[in-house]
Amino acid sequence: MAGHSLRITVTGTGTPIHRPDRAGPGVLVEYGAMKLQFDAGRGTVMRLAEAGSTLTDLTALFVTHHHSDHIVGIPDLLMTRWLNDIRRIGQSPLPIYAPDGEAVRLISRLLDPWVNEMEMRQDHTGRPNIATTDVRRFLAAKDEPTIVAEFGDLTVSAIAVEHEPVVPAAAFRVDSPAGSVVISGDTSVCQQVEELATDVDVLIHEVILPSRLEGLVTEPERLLEYHSEPEGIGALADRAGVAHLVLTHLVPPPQTPDEAKEFETGVRNGGFAGVVSIAEDLWTSTLG
Ligand SMILES: [Zn+2]
Ligand SMILES: [Zn+2]
Repeated sequence: MAGHSLRITVTGTGTPIHRPDRAGPGVLVEYGAMKLQFDAGRGTVMRLAEAGSTLTDLTALFVTHHHSDHIVGIPDLLMTRWLNDIRRIGQSPLPIYAPDGEAVRLISRLLDPWVNEMEMRQDHTGRPNIATTDVRRFLAAKDEPTIVAEFGDLTVSAIAVEHEPVVPAAAFRVDSPAGSVVISGDTSVCQQVEELATDVDVLIHEVILPSRLEGLVTEPERLLEYHSEPEGIGALADRAGVAHLVLTHLVPPPQTPDEAKEFETGVRNGGFAGVVSIAEDLWTSTLG
């Protein structure tokens, strides 16, 4: 149906480095009644509430890879969604799309520690079911994007990215009549994201600032092997024809406007002339 707009909200711009103002990684994409969440790091439930989601209104969750900063919010999301079933209707489990392999194995077990508690609550309150994980595995290839799911006019596709030794790791693209968005997940600058992001309206890309890693980590070269520096992202976005580049998963997390500006300067040095945003939590954009 025509007439919907595509609303994109970054629910978390953080990383394993904990900051009170930056929840763990996550992006909410809304189109009409469809609400797709991509990754669920720490604090995602709080940010979704701030973004107006009831959790029970989510259509599906998509996971880029199994690093804990991207999935640690999933049990909270599933448990809270289940506890919010105040009318005791016994809602269906939330579909979780994950790349086949370790991510599927790990996510399938995330609710195990709470089964006894859920059964106790079920007995006590008369709930018709307990929360379970409904994992939909998909195979992401490196040579071309694969369609992972379709919801009416929305198409979600994925491609495998470069985050070794964490395999598999995927990037996602959502296409709709109102516009398109790509979510890189965690990756080094790679051809696959460039292909997936061809002519996209919004590219949400992870980033790490090599010049500011001193004192933050003991082996910065290791981080640089599987994350992306701004110049490379800028060049990629330019080649792909991206309209709006949004940087998230910011390492180190900028504390001031000047520090945020350093990320943009790097992207510009890489040759990107389009719109650049350095995301804060609940950064949002509406297309169409
Ligand atoms: Zn991460
Ligand atoms: Zn990662």
